[in-house]
Amino acid sequence: MTLDELIREIQGVVGANVDGQYGPQTAGCIIKKLGVKSSATTLKYKTRNIQKHVGVWVDGDFGPKTSGAVIAALKGLDVTTVKPDAVTTHYNESYQPTPNMSVRKIKPLGVVLHHSDGSFNGGVSWILNPDSNVSYHCLIDTNGDRVVFAKDDRRAWHAGKSKFKGKIGVNDFLLGVSFSGNTNHRELTDAEVESACEFILPRLVKYGWPTDLSTITTHRAVSPGRKNDVDSRAEEKIMTALRSKLQKSSR
Ligand SMILES: [Zn+2]
Repeated sequence: MTLDELIREIQGVVGANVDGQYGPQTAGCIIKKLGVKSSATTLKYKTRNIQKHVGVWVDGDFGPKTSGAVIAALKGLDVTTVKPDAVTTHYNESYQPTPNMSVRKIKPLGVVLHHSDGSFNGGVSWILNPDSNVSYHCLIDTNGDRVVFAKDDRRAWHAGKSKFKGKIGVNDFLLGVSFSGNTNHRELTDAEVESACEFILPRLVKYGWPTDLSTITTHRAVSPGRKNDVDSRAEEKIMTALRSKLQKSSR
């Protein structure tokens, strides 16, 4: 693993923003999670205290050795770690690249849940239509089948004017996952919920998203007053399913 990946893994476990950059926020979260004794105010001295705690050379520099030792120390705690193989694919997934995505690449930090207010097939053609200027990374059918329209590192056009944790324009860092139809008027099927988990959980593992699911959100939440997808019942259903699968996989 590269240092960036090691730091992402640590950030996912300690509940820091997962951006692969070691800074004061990540240091603070590590100190809290590991119970490190530290009254240091500078990053360098916080890092030295972490290094003392995990038993590596104390130089105030958060490199691969320190990262490895921190991961080992975190594994000694009873923290949730997720096994990628806990999730197996049951539903069909096809890849149909959309013309509606930006050239510039993104690093996904989480997911925005949407509904697309129409039939599944209507949604697929709309996303493949260059005139729509709309896309999701993934659209899920009522039977659980999925179409993926953009790879995770491509910027899809799903949320428009939006804000998450103080950062505007969530298309720059969150994946768009949509259900067909209107979740304010119908309940999600079990297949839709399972399929969404199948899409989201391996990515949570791969990118080290927080296991408290704090970076799984809804269009309603990131564009308040402007959007009402998904319905709170749909959100609740997805979050409950994700939480229960995470618990199972950490046993
Ligand atoms: Zn939406």
